[in-house]
Amino acid sequence: MKPPEQAVILCGGLGTRLRPFTDSMPKPMIPVNGRPFLEHLLKQCASQGIQRFLLLTGYLGEQIQLYFGDGRLQGWEISYSHGPVEWDTGRRLWEVRNQMESRFLLLYSDNFVQFSMDHLMALHRSEQVPLSLLLAPKTKGNIRLSSEGGSKGRIDAYDKTREGHRLDFVEVGYMIVERDRVLPLFPTLKNYPDFSFSEVLQHLANVHQLAGLVVLNPYHSISDPDRLELMRSYLQPKKILLIDRDGVINQKAPRGEYISTWKHFQWIPETREAMKELAARGFKFIVISNQAGIARGMVDSAALEQIHKNMLSELCTDGVDILEIYVCPHHWDDYCDCRKPAPGMFFRASHDHLLRMDHTIYIGDDPRDCLAAQNAGCPCILVGDNPENETDVKAQPTLKAATLLDTIPWICAQFQNWAAGTEYSASH
Ligand SMILES: [Mg+2]
Ligand SMILES: [Zn+2]
Repeated sequence: MKPPEQAVILCGGLGTRLRPFTDSMPKPMIPVNGRPFLEHLLKQCASQGIQRFLLLTGYLGEQIQLYFGDGRLQGWEISYSHGPVEWDTGRRLWEVRNQMESRFLLLYSDNFVQFSMDHLMALHRSEQVPLSLLLAPKTKGNIRLSSEGGSKGRIDAYDKTREGHRLDFVEVGYMIVERDRVLPLFPTLKNYPDFSFSEVLQHLANVHQLAGLVVLNPYHSISDPDRLELMRSYLQPKKILLIDRDGVINQKAPRGEYISTWKHFQWIPETREAMKELAARGFKFIVISNQAGIARGMVDSAALEQIHKNMLSELCTDGVDILEIYVCPHHWDDYCDCRKPAPGMFFRASHDHLLRMDHTIYIGDDPRDCLAAQNAGCPCILVGDNPENETDVKAQPTLKAATLLDTIPWICAQFQNWAAGTEYSASH
């Protein structure tokens, strides 16, 4: 079963909540960092293997076609279907039934969430359903997953009233659709031919033929002016690096021991030098560190705070700015969502700093760091003589180097590409 190569995107809405911006332009054309929002979405799809786009336009749709044309300059194929403003989403899709490929990605043009087509396809393959989509956690949402506490599987309720139990999720778009299993449902719906596509989703949920995958990367939307501003900050290119502490910034304690006082904190000189050089080039840092010594009673949390205070003030003399230090204080038996290789601290950093995980880099010294970064959708640099043989974790770094100093040109090139709007492509 091959991943979709076509995206069908609903671009026809009035965008009333975005007035007055949408008085003179359709919502997908709203500028986000100098480009229409839709362009960010198309680029993201292209980075996940989509080559052909079918844009379903309505309100002021001619502006969309005028801007994107046939997509040839970008190496894409874009076609259009223009319909009256009054058409609802179901009608728009029905009208292009002959232009749909047998498996396609369906999107609304107002949400953006970092996702992996491989992960969504893996679910779609294993569930064998007509439609699989991405979900985001939300209290009083409209979707219930059948496996309690699960993060993927069959959806057994799609409840627009949001009144039912355990409606812990909402859909964020990004749906893999099997054309020949979904289209036959259209005429059976009561408001056919003009109806909302959400009726199809509701019907599929009722018959347990809908699968969902929870994405923990924060999602953003342009649906109202406040959220549009957050989207703009989120998609704004930044120069922020994520970095591990023990074994990267400072020498690691011997196995089973922890750095519990400042006098045991020993800098790794190459890292400190590299951070200074990167800071001079405009980079800031966020530290992400496991400190199970706290849960084990071997590190006092006040002492840890003092260590970090000293670390920050010494780095400050180098001009290095640490925006935040995220620490997991839990024991590995706690099964928390933040101890690496779990990606919880990465998502908190993304949420707090409106940071795209696919447009930053994590610097670690352990295969578990690579796995945590991979789980968060973040490229990773592995530095030092890492204990590859001591763990059964199998995760490949994006780049491997003896010291952080060696990687500065590579880091700068990645961020330049991201800032220029060129999608990152992994070398492996
Ligand atoms: Mg480490
Ligand atoms: Zn934790």
